[in-house]
Amino acid sequence: MNWQDEIVALEEIGTLPMSLACLYSLVSICGEAFQVFGTEAQRRAYLRPTIEARLCCAEALTEPRGGSDFFGSTTVATKSGGYYYLKGQKRFVVGAEGADYFLVYAKTDPDAPSRRALSLFVVDKKMGVEVKYLYGLLGTRGGGAGRILFRDVKVPEENIIGKEGQGAEIFYEMMIPERMTSAAGCLGVARTALEIATRYSDKRKAFGAKVRDFEAVSFKVADSITMLDAASGLVHGAAVTVDRGLDRRQARRMVSEAKKFATEVAWQVINHSMQIMGGIGYTNVYPIERMLRDARLAMIWTGTSEVMNLIIQHEYYREVLSAGADVRDVEADALAAEAPEEKVYE
Ligand SMILES: Cc1cc2nc3c(=O)[nH]c(=O)nc-3n(C[C@H](O)[C@H](O)[C@H](O)COP(=O)(O)OP(=O)(O)OC[C@H]3O[C@@H](n4cnc5c(N)ncnc54)[C@H](O)[C@@H]3O)c2cc1C
Repeated sequence: MNWQDEIVALEEIGTLPMSLACLYSLVSICGEAFQVFGTEAQRRAYLRPTIEARLCCAEALTEPRGGSDFFGSTTVATKSGGYYYLKGQKRFVVGAEGADYFLVYAKTDPDAPSRRALSLFVVDKKMGVEVKYLYGLLGTRGGGAGRILFRDVKVPEENIIGKEGQGAEIFYEMMIPERMTSAAGCLGVARTALEIATRYSDKRKAFGAKVRDFEAVSFKVADSITMLDAASGLVHGAAVTVDRGLDRRQARRMVSEAKKFATEVAWQVINHSMQIMGGIGYTNVYPIERMLRDARLAMIWTGTSEVMNLIIQHEYYREVLSAGADVRDVEADALAAEAPEEKVYE
């Protein structure tokens, strides 16, 4: 599917507990690497059985020393004979417990500039990947997020995806499904929470009136659906930008905006929904409390909101500052535009 179609499916899947939505999304995320950079043999051995739900995939980017600084990875792959030997560890890997194979970034040339140092490997669990720790989580439970260890894991050379040193390029490609799935899934969970709260406010009474008759309640509904529709517009806009394939860097900015905005809006909307429902919203009689716990993660994983801001500002500055002379000089429209001595910058 193209992204305009896939986000519709993701929004629907997003109404399920987030671990399920994540496991659904992982097929898209890992699938992108095989589809765009993999060999035919890799697609047959891994992609097809994953789509058919005969194999479970996982991706291993984050390390204990830090996830935001992805290019600072320290896991190393050393080549000898027809094999790479992987040494290092990855943290917070969803599917650590249950996956059949992992997509693992490792440095094949640790001395090269960081963007040429990394390569991507498909590593079967049975090649010797050890699960060292399973995390207790606030929400999004059920994915089996853990720390995995590679102690000279022997990986056949045909398990490299793409070429040696192509890891950065693959990483940038995979960040599209990685972040679009987070963004679109969040629309689904937030919309469901708001619908539950909206129906509740039409039934629940206080002071002899339905609580929706109090502006404090109904305006929360108004604010929430407005934010949600704005987020939905942004996610769909990002999907169109990616699908048209016109400008990769603009797509990168739009995807980052969509991921940041949709995940933050989901958090706010679910929080409003809980408030509208009063005490019962905090209990497990309704699923809002689970949604709130699930959604908190979305602002952290697949790149934090802060990292999204880094990308957004970087790409936007580049766009604005690299605009050519063919852009109309709107500054010259000001009545006093011809006052250069007033345009002081230092
Ligand atoms: C339940 C769960 C599941 C996950 N699933 C996976 C998975 O399947 N595979 C995988 O590889 N990873 C996974 N992750 C890891 C996740 O993507 C990282 O936690 C995330 O990218 C942040 O990395 P970190 O935790 O190391 O935080 P750090 O990178 O240490 O960041 C700490 C804080 O510093 C901020 N920060 C860092 N650098 C900057 C900067 N340059 N500018 C501004 N602020 C900055 C961050 O925004 C954050 O607030 C998962 C995490 C969790 C909790």
